[in-house]
Formats: sequence, structure tokens, C-alpha cells
Amino acid sequence: MDSRQVWDDAASGFAGVIPAMFLRELDAPLVSVKGAGEKIAAGLALSGIQNVAALLGHYPRDWEDRSRTVPLSGWNRGPVCTTVKVLAHDWFGFGAMKTLKVHVEDQSARAALVCFNRPFLARQLVVGESCRLWGRFYYKFGELQSTAFEIEGEGEGASSRFGSILPVYPLSAELSRVPSRGQNLLRRLVRQALNQYASSVDDEIPGPLVKAKNLLHKADAIRAIHFPSSMKELEQARQTLVFEELFYLEVAVGKRALERRRSDRQATSVRNEGRMLPLQTDLLKRLPFSLTPGQQKAVADINRDMDGSCAMARLLQGDVGSGKTLVAFFAVLRAIDGAGQAAILAPTELLARQHAENAARLLEPLGLRPAFLTGNLKAQGRSRLLAALADGEIDIVLGTHALFSKDVVYRNLRLVVVDEQHRFGVTQRRAILAKGETSLLGGGAPHLLMMSATPIPRTLALTVFGDLDVSVIADMPPGRKPVKTHLAKESNAGKVYDFVRKELEAGRQAYFVYPLIGDEEADGAEETETGNSRGLKDAVSMAGEMRKIFPRYPASLIHSRLDDEQKRETMEAFRRGEVKILAATSVVEVGVDVPNASCMVVHHAERFGLSALHQLRGRVGRGGEQAYCFLIYSEEEAGPALTEDGKQRLKVMLENNDGFVIAEEDLRLRGPGQIAGVEQSGYLKLGIADPVRDVNILLAAKKDAFAMLENDPGLLLPENRVVAEVLERASP
Ligand code: ADP
Ligand code: MG
Repeated sequence: MDSRQVWDDAASGFAGVIPAMFLRELDAPLVSVKGAGEKIAAGLALSGIQNVAALLGHYPRDWEDRSRTVPLSGWNRGPVCTTVKVLAHDWFGFGAMKTLKVHVEDQSARAALVCFNRPFLARQLVVGESCRLWGRFYYKFGELQSTAFEIEGEGEGASSRFGSILPVYPLSAELSRVPSRGQNLLRRLVRQALNQYASSVDDEIPGPLVKAKNLLHKADAIRAIHFPSSMKELEQARQTLVFEELFYLEVAVGKRALERRRSDRQATSVRNEGRMLPLQTDLLKRLPFSLTPGQQKAVADINRDMDGSCAMARLLQGDVGSGKTLVAFFAVLRAIDGAGQAAILAPTELLARQHAENAARLLEPLGLRPAFLTGNLKAQGRSRLLAALADGEIDIVLGTHALFSKDVVYRNLRLVVVDEQHRFGVTQRRAILAKGETSLLGGGAPHLLMMSATPIPRTLALTVFGDLDVSVIADMPPGRKPVKTHLAKESNAGKVYDFVRKELEAGRQAYFVYPLIGDEEADGAEETETGNSRGLKDAVSMAGEMRKIFPRYPASLIHSRLDDEQKRETMEAFRRGEVKILAATSVVEVGVDVPNASCMVVHHAERFGLSALHQLRGRVGRGGEQAYCFLIYSEEEAGPALTEDGKQRLKVMLENNDGFVIAEEDLRLRGPGQIAGVEQSGYLKLGIADPVRDVNILLAAKKDAFAMLENDPGLLLPENRVVAEVLERASP
């Protein structure tokens, strides 16, 4: 079937047929590819390549341009690709370590090929003969050397290894273990699969767009992304595939926006242009400080949304400590003023409880009736609370996922606030929103306010939250001093302890954070970073150590396996200042607010993600005093070696205090296609597009997608798995 035909049909509302030959529908088994036997197929399946579609969709992470000559003298600008003459053989080392060294030259320079584990090259590389050579060179002991090279005699016939642009595939551990080793195997199989299948792959982008954007047809793009005939063609192929992916994403985002606009609810109040309501002014008066400009703007945005005729869907971004909770309370007051109820959902018990305490302190005096709903409320208390919710005797309920249990019924849920929204799955967010529909008064979709401590870089927010309104709190409450951050080697931990002791003497408090809970859990079941636990400090044993190191200061332990009562008591004691030192895991990462704490010491900092470190650091510096963050990293003999990447990341922490910048940096360091991290932006992983690098294509795709939807809101798109997954993770 012709792809343009399909699109014309789709645009005219014809919904039935999905053409059989979109790339992702090539579900032929791998063994159908010539040269792929059962064993190879099984090996590839282990790393997620189960069929032809997955094989062709396993895009290269890089390309080696072996089509242009780069003489030896150009070694410092990248890989060399040249024809050399073999000058001499040379052997060094003894016995099993005996290694061949082959001296070669081209017109520009001489070089030595160090043939580790390749003694057989002595037979292949005959002195005096010409060979084609590709490799990376470096200068060592006064000569140009390479250990990473490929070479073959000119007489060996035209090989696919030279004279063209070759793909370099990402190899999982499983793939590297497949017989005949990953790279060459994949190159061979992909080439074969392209020959057998590529010509039947259909376009997915609407035909007119392919033309207007000067894109390739999908079949050509797939061929060219693997084996481009020129760098120019490669770029065009990449543009095509990136555009396709982002176009899909934006169509889906746009449809969601349309749906939301359709599900208008009746306006329940007179418009007042986002001005403060009396209850809100009351709260303002009671605060010992005034709102920051960012908070004021956010509150005004929210008021305007909630006065409008459709449900608010707003993302409130603000760095750690920027005061989002307070903004949420203003939204709560706005919801309750219309005789509604509000729910604040938090990812951890600890945080939910802290919100509940703040609500009791700030909202109760205004006549509001808050309640705290946790998963392990005793049966009797629980049923009383649920009855009160259904009767409308409770105005605002704060809690964890317990808020959307089946038996929780609201009388008139008008606002849902989701704190640390990226920690919730879409099903959870939908479950709580559905509580609005099932409210006893039947009010329809409640307003939604999602809050996030900025792990979402601006550019990415634009992609996936294209249908959300966004408020950004870019400023901090006045008087905050930036936290001073220091890196320290494990062996210098003593100096850090000395420093912390001085802070304790001055009346301050300190957090010590470890990647593991206790040393008994060597099975990798720890709550934070996973992996080898040998040589790692853990919170349980270090809590004991702390008592020895700081005998005059009470220390306590907190981690996710303690029961809630213990957690609550510990946090309370820390907040009241009775406990001076908290040995913790990253449970304290989210939201915890104890202004008198001035030191955050993170052990094995290289094991934490950047955004986790930023969150942890955000636990201190909340009062007016100078605060300090010490990132202690393991040396090689202690824990796993600190990688280059790890060092870079820790440096980012030294140089930046801005969560936005840190999130972008993290993204940049991890590189395209690597944005999936458990701890941040996990929902934004795309196949080939990199929303940061490809932001211009993203904007173009968005424009095109929204324009098409404008013409035809019913526009049907073939399902796209990558996009579906992204939306699944990110949608409100
Ligand atoms: P986050 O945005 O990280 O959730 P919080 O809501 O926990 O930040 O607020 C951090 C701290 O700042 C709290 O102790 C809060 O009372 C305080 N705070 C909030 N707004 C202001 C303000 N405008 N001026 C001074 N302090 C504020
Ligand atoms: Mg918060």
C-alpha cells in the first residue's frame, strides 16, 4: 500500500486499516535474516532485539567515516584512514606476553601498530606490501602508535570494512558476549536485514510533510542511518527519524490538550482576574515574610486558571527551597472557597506528614479542616476519617498514594496537588484525578497542580508538557546564602568531621547520607543506588560510628525500612533539635525542611545522580546561616573506582547551584539517548531524538503537529511505542 494513500485516508477520518509495513510491524523473527542462526537470535533477544523491526531500529550510536583518506599525520584530529606500506616486524616482551609490533608508513608519516593478542598479523602483514589501515593513534615513546586499529592487505579484495561509512552500535553486555563479537556481527546482520526487508518499509510521516521538510522516505532513512553513502545523507536520515519521533510526540501532546479543552467544566464562580480571595489575603497577613516575586506570579497564574471555565492543568517548577508548598496552599484556599475539597499528594510518608504539619500550622487558624491520611492508619481511625471526607467535614487531605485507594470517596474534590510529580506514575495521577469525577457532588475534572523541583530541564518540559501551563519560580526567599560545596576524598573524611564538629558546637545540625541502609543487605535490595555493596558505608553501621565520632551530640538513624512511627519520631526529634545528627539514606532527599541543619555530608557521592545530589544539598541552607555540603567520594581501593563521568558530575555540583543548570548539565553529560535515569527525567527517553540537541526540530514538529490537529482534531496516528511510553510516563 502506498503510504501517501494511507495518510489521505487517515486525514479524511478513515480509521480502520493500519498498513502492514511500518517498520515496527516487521515482526519477522531474527532467524529469517540470512546468517542469523538460533544461537545468535537468542543472544540478541537477551538485549531486547527480538525481531527484524528491533534489529533495524537498533540505531548506531556513532559512525566511522572510512570513505575519506585521513593520513597518519592527521592522527590528532580523529581516526586515521589511509593506505600504508609495511616496513618491518618487531617483537617485544617474553613468553605469553610476547607482542608483535608492526612498523608502517604512508606518504605523511611513520607509525607502529602494537598487536596485542594478534600474533597472527605477522603472517598477514608482509613486509613491503601495501595495506588499508583504519585506527586511532597516539604519541608515545617518541613514536606514533596504535593498539586500536583494523588492517587488511590491499590484495584481499574490496571489503565492506573499508571505503565506506560504518555504523558503530551501542553494545549491551549481552551483545558483547554474542559469538563473533557485537560490532561486526551487528553490521553484517543489519546489512542483510536491510537487503531483505527495507524496500517494503512505509512512511509514517504524512506525505506532504516529507516533501515540504525535505525529509527522506522512511525506507531510505532506515538504510541511510545504518549505512549512509555520505555524511550529508546521514544527517538527512537523522533529521528524518528525529522529526518523525518528535512529530508523533507532539501530535499526542496536542491531542491531549484538545481533550482537556473539550472536557470543560461549568464555571462555578465569577471571574476575578486572578486576584487574591479573602482567605488568601488572610494567609498572607499571617506569614512572617512576604511572597517572593516568583511565588506571587505563580499564585496569580493559579488564581486566573481556577477562575477560568476549564480545569487547571499547571506545572509549578521551582528549585529546591523556592517555596512551592506555600504556593500550593494558596491554590488550596482558592479551591476551598468554592466549597470544594483539596488533596495534596506526596511521594513519601515523611513529606506528606511535613505538609500536614504545615497545613495544621498555616491553614487551621484560617478555619480550614485538614486531615492526614496514611496507608497504615488503624481501621477505626481510618473509617472515621473516610466518613468525614465523604461528608465534606474535611477540607483538605494530605497523604501518600493512600489518597486514591478505592474506598476513599470525596464529597467535592476540586483540586489535586501532586508534589514531586515525577515520582508518580501516570496511573496513580489518573486515579487521583478520577476521584474528582466520582465526587459525591459530581463536579467533573478537578484542577491539577503538579509540582516539581526542576529535574526537568526547560527544553524538555517544553516537549512533553506541551499541553500544560507552566509557572516557574526562578527566585529564592531572601536571605538565603548559596550552600558552599566541597569535594573530599574518603581518606580526608576526618577533616570533614572536624568541620562538622565546629558547626555542631555552634548549635547547628547535620545530615550524613549513605547509599545503603544496612550492611546485612548485600543482596542489593537497598533503597537507593543499586549495585555492589562491598566497600560501601551504610546508614545503620555509620549511625553507630557517628556516636563514637561525635560523642557529645545525639545521633539518630533514618531510612525507608523503619516503620512510620519511628520515622516520625526521629524527624520530629531532629526538627526540635534534640537529635543533632541524622544518619540517613536518600529518604531525606525529598522535601524535608529543617532550617537549622547546616551540613549535608554525602558519602560515596559518585553513586548518586546529579539531581539526587542537588535535592540532598537543598536540605540545607534553608535558614539564614551559611550552610555546607560535602561530597565524599570513594577512592579506588575502597569502593568501585570513580569514573571520569563520575568526576565530571561531581564537578558540576561544585560549579552550579541552579537546579535548572544542573539538570541540563546532567543531560548533556549523559548524552543523547541516555536521558533515561531512574532518578530524573526518566520519562523523557526517546529513541533517536534528543530534545536538547534537537530542540529546533522539536519546535518545528510541534508547529506542524498542532497545525494538522487544528485542521482535523480527529487526526489518527498509527500507534508509536516510543511515544506511547514517553506519554505513559509523563502525562498528567
Ligand atoms: P520547596 O520548593 O523545595 O518545596 P518549601 O516549600 O519546602 O520549598 O519551602 C522551603 C522553606 O522556605 C520553608 O521553610 C518555607 O517556610 C520557606 N519559605 C517559603 N516561602 C518563603 C518566603 N517567601 N520567604 C521566606 N521563606 C519562605
Ligand atoms: Mg517541596
